[in-house]
Amino acid sequence: MALARQAQAGESWGVQLPTQAFVDGRYVDAQAGGTLPCVFPGNGRTIGHVAACETADVDAAVGSARKAFESGAWSRMAPQDRRKVLLKLSELILHNRDELATLETLNVGKPLVNAKTGDIPSAAACIGWFGEAIDKIYGEVGPTPHDLTAVITREPLGVVAAVVPWNYPLSMAAWKLGPALAAGNSVVLKPAEQSPYTALRIAGLAMEAGLPPGVLNVISGYGETAGQALGRHMDVDCVTFTGSTEVGKLFMRYAGESNAKRVSLELGGKSPQVVLADSDLDAAAAAVAAGIFSNAGQVCNAGSRLIVDRAIKDKLLDRIVTHARNLRVGDPFDADTKMGPVVSKEQHARVLSYIESGRQDGATVVTGGRKVGALPDGFFIEPTVFDGVSNDMKIAQEEIFGPVLSTIEFRDLDEALAIANDTVYGLAAGVWTNDIRKAQRAAKAIRAGVVWVNCFDRGNMSVPFGGFKQSGHGRDKSLHAIDKYTDWKAVWYAS
Ligand code: NAD
Repeated sequence: MALARQAQAGESWGVQLPTQAFVDGRYVDAQAGGTLPCVFPGNGRTIGHVAACETADVDAAVGSARKAFESGAWSRMAPQDRRKVLLKLSELILHNRDELATLETLNVGKPLVNAKTGDIPSAAACIGWFGEAIDKIYGEVGPTPHDLTAVITREPLGVVAAVVPWNYPLSMAAWKLGPALAAGNSVVLKPAEQSPYTALRIAGLAMEAGLPPGVLNVISGYGETAGQALGRHMDVDCVTFTGSTEVGKLFMRYAGESNAKRVSLELGGKSPQVVLADSDLDAAAAAVAAGIFSNAGQVCNAGSRLIVDRAIKDKLLDRIVTHARNLRVGDPFDADTKMGPVVSKEQHARVLSYIESGRQDGATVVTGGRKVGALPDGFFIEPTVFDGVSNDMKIAQEEIFGPVLSTIEFRDLDEALAIANDTVYGLAAGVWTNDIRKAQRAAKAIRAGVVWVNCFDRGNMSVPFGGFKQSGHGRDKSLHAIDKYTDWKAVWYAS
């Protein structure tokens, strides 16, 4: 499916492109009839339109979710039976993997092979994991005086609004849907405007799996309209958000100005990769390159700041530059492509403007730094490495969300750790050393929700993920995620 061929008007993509939102168990247009365009980042062309939902559509979706919740059809279903439905949904996602992967690549331009082997199976695994977990979670009985019994149970919250970004559209949605649905809530999911396809498609798959109508609604639309309407809705009990820190703060404001709904936030990052002189340089270089160039750097925990001992900086950078230059950038439908375009024209311009700001501030581009000239219509950018960055530069402080690495050198571990923590973010960090004492010291000192030692970006559904500081609060993945979607109820019995 070469880009050039697909660029010809009228050619089919081999999948049906979703167009409608999903409310109360049915695919529907936006009530006001509005649509938003979907653009394939590989060639910059509009490939379709989906419903642009507004307040009235959000009201309908929340109303349906509330009705479904109160009916008990899902919220009071035995956990063993909810488990069966979620396992079926997981199976259906895998069964439709090729279609879902194509939809994901069309929306966001990530290499199809990555969507097929990463995003889609990991979304299926997440839904399955929470399905499997839900009939194995117990309540508590308090150590009360003999004449009393206090039974402490987890109860679902009610209506959960899940607002998610475009970098891993289906898997970010699954991180919310898995625990929220398993716990018995109804959900209104709002995908990012750039990436509505897979969210809309799995709503139908969820019905096929046996989820009662109204338990999952999907509202496509713009953040400022549909997203804000959810954030301010008086009948939404919880917003679970993944996205930028800027918009995360807006959701806290929306909650404060409406019904004080609970808000959990998975936000941005500026993750340090701290490389000490005694580390395995080949392993570190490969992981630093993968940590900033995979998904074209559009990863919340991207290792975007390389903080390296000056004694080994040149040796390490040589190796990283080799990785960057060998990375094949191109058509995301080509099986040999390792890095696709960034998601949109706006993101393309934004990343290029950060590269320009790095140059202006006096940092040196060691490799990359330009649009990919051979692919003029898509939103492609060369893997880019800066040297000579100081941690107060804009490219070291702000989240670029593109394939741009900033290299900062240090003289000793104290200085390295001070630089690592000199950021408003605290999502993740990498530490590279063969000295266990230094590793332990660094892992304790770094203020981040995830620290990888001699590895980077490893994950497992059983391990929580989330940030410190302005990278958010609350955790996705693992049994801790259930906490976000349940409340404890204490019932006292007297004899
Ligand atoms: P974004 O904040 O622009 O958008 C996220 C979601 O919020 C989208 O659905 C969008 O429509 C909605 N939104 C936008 N403006 C809104 C508004 N005014 N009111 C209500 N809703 C609004 O983020 P993005 O550009 O889609 O994604 C990139 C960001 O996501 C990065 O900052 C990245 O670090 C972060 N991210 C974090 C994690 C994590 O787990 N911590 C994971 C993935 C992405």
